[in-house]
Amino acid sequence: MAELSSQALRVEELHKSFGSHQVLKGVSTTANQGDVISIIGSSGSGKSTFLRCINLLEMPDRGRVIVNGEEVALRRSRQGQMQPKSWRQVERIRSGLGMVFQSFNLWAHMTVLENVIEAPVHVLGISRREATEKADALLAKVGLYDKRDAYPAFLSGGQQQRTAIARALCIDPAVMLFDEPTSALDPELVGEVLKVIRDLADEGRTMLLVTHEMRFARDVSNHVLFLHEGRVEEEGPPQQIFDAPLSSRCREFTRTVH
Ligand code: ADP
Ligand code: MG
Repeated sequence: MAELSSQALRVEELHKSFGSHQVLKGVSTTANQGDVISIIGSSGSGKSTFLRCINLLEMPDRGRVIVNGEEVALRRSRQGQMQPKSWRQVERIRSGLGMVFQSFNLWAHMTVLENVIEAPVHVLGISRREATEKADALLAKVGLYDKRDAYPAFLSGGQQQRTAIARALCIDPAVMLFDEPTSALDPELVGEVLKVIRDLADEGRTMLLVTHEMRFARDVSNHVLFLHEGRVEEEGPPQQIFDAPLSSRCREFTRTVH
């Protein structure tokens, strides 16, 4: 079906608990190619856990995750924990997803270039030469070609985050996952990172973006999920979510956050 082949990511009824704390209570979403989906909601509503379950940094308890048409296969261990049926599949699924964290997570002992080519060379088995060519092009795109041989400690937060974005792009992911990519930045550095994300959206990259930058979410996304206590309380186009939300919780939230 044409509909299925345009789906970069589908998540159905995701559930996740930590001990007795139910953090996700059945969250679903579908990202077609080129969709930019922003995920908003108060701290603790489950936004990070949702992204972390999608790329299997956390194992969902229940629900389906389908990346690029491939469904993640999980099983329950004797101890009752969910685990992947195949770690090779986990690697494949992860190589379809480019993750960018709030805290950059660059390797401090590697240069910018080495950070960017690490996964293509060591996970995907691409030659160093080919990976370097690609990395250089991506570094030029995020405005960091001249920093390729620098170590992260010598970069500003904005430059580190742009490096992390280039690194995530270097595996050619079907979907980019951003978890509050500008929350750890000094205010004057936020704009340069948002610009890179906006350029990716304009190019038609498929993305899920957790953010507190409401104006940016409104401009860049075609769909918004408002999470509340582990459920999608409301979703829709940004005009609905920000101008005419149906849910009073959503109205309250978008009114108080800027
Ligand atoms: P958000 O990103 O929306 O702020 P999170 O997904 O980080 O929310 O967290 C949702 C809830 O799950 C919080 O109460 C948090 O403390 C809890 N939580 C997240 N990760 C873990 C974990 N690894 N172990 C236990 N509790 C966790
Ligand atoms: Mg979070």
